[in-house]
Amino acid sequence: MKRIHPLSSLFTLGTLSLLLLLLTQCSPKGTASDSQSHLAQTSPSISWEYGQRAYTHTEKILEFGPRPPQSEALKFVREHTTAELAKHQWVAVEQTFTANTPIGQRTFTNLIARYQPSGTPSHTTWARKPKGVLGAHIDSKYYPDQVFLGADDAASAVGAILEIAEYLHKSSPQMAKQLELVFFDGEEAFGDVFDLRTALFGSRHYSALVQRSYPTKPSFGIILDMIGHKDLSMILPSNSAEPLVKQTLQLAKELGIAEDYKRSGPVLDDHEPLNSIAGIPTIDILGDFTKKSWWHTPEDTLDIISKDSLSQNILLTLELIKLQLESHSP
Ligand SMILES: [Zn+2]
Repeated sequence: MKRIHPLSSLFTLGTLSLLLLLLTQCSPKGTASDSQSHLAQTSPSISWEYGQRAYTHTEKILEFGPRPPQSEALKFVREHTTAELAKHQWVAVEQTFTANTPIGQRTFTNLIARYQPSGTPSHTTWARKPKGVLGAHIDSKYYPDQVFLGADDAASAVGAILEIAEYLHKSSPQMAKQLELVFFDGEEAFGDVFDLRTALFGSRHYSALVQRSYPTKPSFGIILDMIGHKDLSMILPSNSAEPLVKQTLQLAKELGIAEDYKRSGPVLDDHEPLNSIAGIPTIDILGDFTKKSWWHTPEDTLDIISKDSLSQNILLTLELIKLQLESHSP
């Protein structure tokens, strides 16, 4: 992850200049300590257990070590994720494919999960037409010469989705039934060049399948990436679906956490194929990697992960899912 698009045909120079101008005018984030996050001060109703459990999931994922595509560690992480989902009646299937990469052919496996409360036959579960997709990348970037764990990029997002799956099972099974969870393989680029030939393998493959074979396309998608770091700063890239961006900013305002979420210029991430190939209006809720010195370095470890940041982004995501499901109900 993630390269700001070069001046592509998608965006005019004027638009980009304006976005860059807006970005550079943003004031730097305050230095309040993690325990004094805005949400803690303004939203006493939030369950801080969200973050605790997502943190524990993140910690567990990191124990398997670096998990680049086709590694044993990634296979174990997928098995672990499948087992954790099953505890809360979500069933996961693997979507395996091969693709050419800058370092040769590789095998990738996405993990797709749906809610299957006990007694539901499997064919019913997979015949459902999900209204929304919630996704994160499960691989860590491949480095031949360093130990890269990718705690926030993006084990923390996988941990957050596991927590959301548990929460929905316990509190809102009707919402759970309307979602598809996707853990994308091969989001990260092989090497330094990040483009549609070197990266986003899993989301491109999934999006092509949705486009070809889903009788009804989901109405919205949410991608989480780098959502658990201390001193939280998040961006909402402009090549996300605008109605979702507007809703997210409005929700952040209502929750008293608006300062942590800014619009940015376009970014290549898993939301791009969902929007452009699958035709699912999708938002990327992304950590501002341009401000983080630990991004794509061996410092992206559990030390930079905050339970408060996780709680905040989980709450925001749950509220956004709720709004979207309501707005797409008949
Ligand atoms: Zn990355």
